[in-house]
Amino acid sequence: MPTFEYAPAPESRSIVDIQPSYGLYIGGEMVEPIDGTRFKTVNPATEEVLSEVVAAGPQDVDRAVDAARSAYDGTWSRLSGRDRGKYLYRLARLVQERSRELAVLESIDNGKPIRESRDVDVPLVAAHFFYYAGWADKLDYAGFGPDPRALGVAAQVIPWNFPLLMLAWKIAPALACGNTVVLKPAETTPLTALAFADICQQADLPPGVVNILTGAGDTGRALVEHPGVDKVAFTGSTEVGRQIARSVAGTRKKVTLELGGKAANVVFDDAPLDQAIEGIVNGIFFNQGHVCCAGSRLLVQESVADELLAGLKRRLTTLRLGDPLDKNTDIGAINSAEQLAKIRLLSEVGETEGAERWSPPCELPGRGFWFPPTVFTGVSQSHRIAREEIFGPVLSVLTFRTPAEAVEKANNTPYGLSAGVWTEKGSRILWMAQRLRAGVVWANTFNRFDPTSPFGGYKESGYGREGGRHGLEGYLDV
Ligand code: NDP
Repeated sequence: MPTFEYAPAPESRSIVDIQPSYGLYIGGEMVEPIDGTRFKTVNPATEEVLSEVVAAGPQDVDRAVDAARSAYDGTWSRLSGRDRGKYLYRLARLVQERSRELAVLESIDNGKPIRESRDVDVPLVAAHFFYYAGWADKLDYAGFGPDPRALGVAAQVIPWNFPLLMLAWKIAPALACGNTVVLKPAETTPLTALAFADICQQADLPPGVVNILTGAGDTGRALVEHPGVDKVAFTGSTEVGRQIARSVAGTRKKVTLELGGKAANVVFDDAPLDQAIEGIVNGIFFNQGHVCCAGSRLLVQESVADELLAGLKRRLTTLRLGDPLDKNTDIGAINSAEQLAKIRLLSEVGETEGAERWSPPCELPGRGFWFPPTVFTGVSQSHRIAREEIFGPVLSVLTFRTPAEAVEKANNTPYGLSAGVWTEKGSRILWMAQRLRAGVVWANTFNRFDPTSPFGGYKESGYGREGGRHGLEGYLDV
């Protein structure tokens, strides 16, 4: 039971204006599809239909790629870096000005708590545009030789877990480097990308520099396979990442893939346990665990395991699950029925394989897609819940005795996106960071993001880096 009861504090949704139906954003205008069909998009917290959007067809993809090509040849590649930077600053400022609207819309469309969309997603979106705006006229000094060139038209496909933030991660560096883009948001979360189309119009961005095609996997496939694109940037599952890598092999297209993860969050016996508990909660229950770099495997040193787990369970009983628009909510809705089915299935497998399942007392709303925060103890490395990305609020707990064992277990995964280390000793942090095969290693914190910091994976977590100076490389002909 929560320690305190709070009165509901819902954020008003009157600030957003969701239209009953949307077209596609091509060549600077919202247009009707040529061969696309329509589908409904729902609020995952209530299953209420929010709007009808287009699943763009092959001819729509042709048209968007043509628009991006004309914009590249006709305007964007001719602008100076300074002028491109001005547009990016303008986009950043408009995101800030409309931040409340964007946060509410993101929570309605995705199911994530408003506290996160308001305090994490949207501020980071603006920060990304500001950061890459600053690079636009300094590419000569970015370490890729004098006068590095843009690639041309970028095809960008993003997932549903951070819809607007992933859009920013893709669009901001692409535009800063002088490319034009065609972006496909995920099927279940198209609305903030469509709001961003409106922001592009408001910013007077030259037509065709940004094009947004809503749709499902088929639209994504048609886009990445289109012969007119020069660059493919994808964030999503490892399985689709593999298909994309196969489909672009042998073409001129440059590719960056940011795929799944199964990060270890390693807690040593000298760690400040209360802080570590906050970090574990943030690591796996932030955004309902729909985070590629989530700390989904807790590795705790055996001598403090009981104490840590007791504290963690106490802390989890205070989390509030429910209305994503309520400012007190910690855990929102699962993004879709499919994802909920996957989380349920893997959790059942965890029990069948012999791990012990625990959730705090927690009432789930009657409608919508919900899953309680869940902890599995007694997990061994061979269990599926220790190997596969569940992408939900489910933590698998393993123990270790020595630092060497911690490293071995942490690295025993096909993935390598992130890791966390909790210890009082700076020397141990460095020792661990040198041995963990993960693109990001957080020390005494978790899930911290900053546009200046490169992010990306090893092994099956993908290749290429996004963010920071490194994030420019994927969009330059170097
Ligand atoms: P996908 O990888 O299928 O989706 C990511 C994006 O790719 C979406 O926009 C999707 O469209 C699109 N897409 C799907 N198929 C293709 C294709 N053949 N060619 C080009 N684009 C395509 O992830 P799902 O949403 O299906 O989630 C499945 C699992 O993937 C999750 O349970 C989770 O484990 C993992 N995942 C990992 C993410 C990460 O950041 N590491 C992010 C999202 C998911 P559409 O939305 O219509 O499917």
